[in-house]
Amino acid sequence: MTEKGLLQRLENGGNVVVAEGYIFEFERKGYLQAGSFVPEVTLEHPELVRLMYEEFVHAGSDVALAFTEQIELAVKYRADYIVAETFAHHGEAMLALECIKKYGKGLPAVVTLFAATGDTFVEGVNVAEGCKLLEDAGAAVVGLNCSRGPETMIPLLKEIRQMCKGPIAALPVTYRTTQEEPTFTALTIPGTKKRAFPLDLCACLRSRQQIAEFAEQCKEIGVQYIGLCCGNSANMTRIVAEKYGRNPPASKYAPAMEKHFIFGDKSKFKSGFTEDLRTHIGGQFD
Ligand SMILES: [Zn+2]
Repeated sequence: MTEKGLLQRLENGGNVVVAEGYIFEFERKGYLQAGSFVPEVTLEHPELVRLMYEEFVHAGSDVALAFTEQIELAVKYRADYIVAETFAHHGEAMLALECIKKYGKGLPAVVTLFAATGDTFVEGVNVAEGCKLLEDAGAAVVGLNCSRGPETMIPLLKEIRQMCKGPIAALPVTYRTTQEEPTFTALTIPGTKKRAFPLDLCACLRSRQQIAEFAEQCKEIGVQYIGLCCGNSANMTRIVAEKYGRNPPASKYAPAMEKHFIFGDKSKFKSGFTEDLRTHIGGQFD
């Protein structure tokens, strides 16, 4: 993170936009193996990792999250803060926070829960109460990441917002999770009973419009640390960043459908070819 640090950015209701989802995006691009999901790409093609950081920052991410599980490394390379993404298990999340406090040289901790199954911690504390315990124990930001898509994360975010005083985080997967299939691991391919996770999740991808609606809902709820996890791509990060009032360099290339040769301003496209296409598609776009 450049210029202001995490805590300064979050002061007075400010926000931080965060692109995640590197693992799935590298798998999609052909540089990471589905199954093991080990990010060997960081060793084999560091230039591509750097490029993806640039892509996401260009699209509006304030942060380039490093793939390291070593707190000492994060400190050494002057990270601005340390993220612990843990399962929704109270003990695990608390342990991660304790480690950051012990070895993180005072860096702020963002602790997010992977709320995979049900709404409760193993110890019988619900997710919102768990976030409150983490906040009380010193986490700078608490919330949810991964596992759930926008629809099944929003209700939990509302509970967390009511329970916690400080900044809260939301980084859902970009897939169509429902009450019946609340997490991306549970998703089935539409129209079938076949499991979509992890190879066919593309059949369940949320639309750009739905990502925009999610970002708007998060703003209303008061989510300050906002982003997308698995399934994310630069165009989706741009949408979230723009909904949070940003104008990243990638906004130069945001859609301008009035310029489209079929759907655009009819008067500006006089060629017979274009008119033929319009006729073929039908008049509903005029
Ligand atoms: Zn994820």
